[in-house]
Amino acid sequence: MGTVHRLVTEEQRKRELLSRIPDNQLGCRLRHKWPVLRPGRKNPIPKNMRVLAQRDGCARIQETCEICGKIRWKLTGQHGIFLRSAPWHYIQPKDWEVLRRDWGVTRQDLAAEAYERVFGSWIGDFIEIELNKMEAEEREKMRQEMHREALQSS
Ligand SMILES: [Zn+2]
Repeated sequence: MGTVHRLVTEEQRKRELLSRIPDNQLGCRLRHKWPVLRPGRKNPIPKNMRVLAQRDGCARIQETCEICGKIRWKLTGQHGIFLRSAPWHYIQPKDWEVLRRDWGVTRQDLAAEAYERVFGSWIGDFIEIELNKMEAEEREKMRQEMHREALQSS
């Protein structure tokens, strides 16, 4: 009894937390769409990427997620040498909900929440309409079959 109650409230708590996540943030579901570098192209520097020269001769490479607007940046070495080990720094868009580990929210939860927001309001009606179409087609098929049988027996 106590276990069931705890499971329900746990699920409700999770749903409440998920509902706080802004639409744009949910669009990424922990996988951001960072600019893709495509060497050999006419304009190889993606539009969501900025390179800002720094006074010390380094550069700040800054990328913006196309979906949620989150920014990540890192510093290069002198003359713009890319430093593999330099950390990325992140700037959250406002209203960003930081997903705390103890929430227990998984990628699947986020996918379900996104699915719910996109399809939740109309998928029930859609299925209803499709079922009605299928039934109408089956009725028509049966009607034609009965008509054919009637013609054969006469
Ligand atoms: Zn993103």
